[in-house]
Amino acid sequence: MFDVIIAGCGPTGAMLAAELRLHDVRVLVLEKETEPVSFVRIVGLHIRSIELLAMRGLLERILERGRQRPAGGFFAAINKPAPEGLGSAHAYLLGIPQPVIVHLLEEHAIELGAQVRRGCAVADFEQDDEGVTVELADGEQLRSRNLVGCDGGRSTVRKLLGVGFLGEPSRTETLMGEMEVGVPQEEIAAKVTEIRETDKRFSLGSFGEGVYRVVVPAAGVSDRAEPPTLEDFKQQLRTIAGTDFGVHSPRWLSRFGDATRLAERYRVRRVLLAGDAAHIHPPIGGQGLNLGVQDAFNLGWKLAAQIRGWAPETLLDTYQAERHPVAEDVLDNTRAQMELLSTEPGPQAVRRLLTELMDLDEVNRYLIEKITAIGIRYDFGEGPDLLGRRLRDIDVKQGHLYGLLHRGRGLLLDRTERLTVGGWSDRVDYLADPTAVLDVPCVLLRPDGHVAWIGDDQQDLDDHLSRWFGKPAN
Ligand SMILES: Cc1cc2nc3c(=O)[nH]c(=O)nc-3n(C[C@H](O)[C@H](O)[C@H](O)COP(=O)(O)OP(=O)(O)OC[C@H]3O[C@@H](n4cnc5c(N)ncnc54)[C@H](O)[C@@H]3O)c2cc1C
Repeated sequence: MFDVIIAGCGPTGAMLAAELRLHDVRVLVLEKETEPVSFVRIVGLHIRSIELLAMRGLLERILERGRQRPAGGFFAAINKPAPEGLGSAHAYLLGIPQPVIVHLLEEHAIELGAQVRRGCAVADFEQDDEGVTVELADGEQLRSRNLVGCDGGRSTVRKLLGVGFLGEPSRTETLMGEMEVGVPQEEIAAKVTEIRETDKRFSLGSFGEGVYRVVVPAAGVSDRAEPPTLEDFKQQLRTIAGTDFGVHSPRWLSRFGDATRLAERYRVRRVLLAGDAAHIHPPIGGQGLNLGVQDAFNLGWKLAAQIRGWAPETLLDTYQAERHPVAEDVLDNTRAQMELLSTEPGPQAVRRLLTELMDLDEVNRYLIEKITAIGIRYDFGEGPDLLGRRLRDIDVKQGHLYGLLHRGRGLLLDRTERLTVGGWSDRVDYLADPTAVLDVPCVLLRPDGHVAWIGDDQQDLDDHLSRWFGKPAN
């Protein structure tokens, strides 16, 4: 009997497994592929995801394997630098391939004690009052208290749950792959610049040693199950650029669409959904993996609290209440971005106008805070603007604030040195620091780094400790 079975060891499943292990939850991750996928899909990690990894002590490992790039220029690929003062110690994009992120998160989860079984596809499940019986493709049955579907856009778990996945089907398909080219770099650069004047869905980016990442709109796709061929790439390059750049020796070839869909519910009793299993959208802006990892971060401590027995009654419901609107917003911003990539005169005019508007600091800041997820404010009720937002990494007397959050517990940061976490000290750490760089007296942080309370009154604090961390232990 496990506490939680996670279907899928992509970035979302691996992150969730690690978060649950911080609270000693018995976790089994089932992954249908025998080997990790080697496709390099993503642009990189945005600010909030880098912050989350810093909060769990993974910053150095991830920085070693990625390349820091400017944070701006991702909204609809409109080339504007990020505004000054984004309020983060990590105000950059970390270029890092998806397989490297997955490997790192899986390694982290295993180090913390998660079990990962590869070559095991979840085929069916049944839930009852005590738990969930999960059936694998080979007929083996496993039992756990909860099941979380982190099994990607075509999620078996979501389909078996019968949860609606509402939105739009794919209208345009794009080819993406890595391959060698047979013409000089200058020739490619000139052609790419010329085409990207009007068609932003076209790019050839160098990875060094003659290897290029090629992105080109696909022709009509008759069978989406059939993988693309090098000939498909050549044909499309010739149609759009007038030359196939002598491409050869592909490392990998893939195709993706722009379907945009959101699960109606993230939870049905003991079964939950996270990551692409709950939402899909075009990759513009590079948000999907980031969104999934952040879902896992939001869900992990809440599900752990439920299993450990201290969760307040409605805590697990806040997962959907907080994350569904965030996904809705990401879907909408990708819809808007896709319109801005259109070669039609109307959208092109809107794009020019928005490009001008982004010269206004406030507009640029608003959009970048959206894409990087640092602008998220959960609705925790009336209160100062900081309430419900994430707290950036600030200097405290013991070093950096995020350095105190590695164990995934709550934290009371008390500048008055008068308050106490009392009977919640098994779940919430306490730091008295009158010098902390904050313009409020005290903050209570949830394990995901969001501000759950601001104030200086012990009774009010106790009420909020109960709200988020359940009954005191004594
Ligand atoms: C071209 C492209 C570019 C992208 N660029 C970016 C980017 O720059 N930034 C960004 O944030 N996102 C980007 N994304 C999106 C990102 O790749 C996804 O959002 C991310 O992979 C979602 O992670 P996940 O763990 O939820 O799902 P997945 O990565 O799909 O992982 C799901 C896992 O579940 C496994 N699985 C499936 N079914 C079962 C089953 N029945 N039983 C057991 N295991 C199962 C799968 O094998 C897989 O390992 C891009 C996507 C594409 C296509």
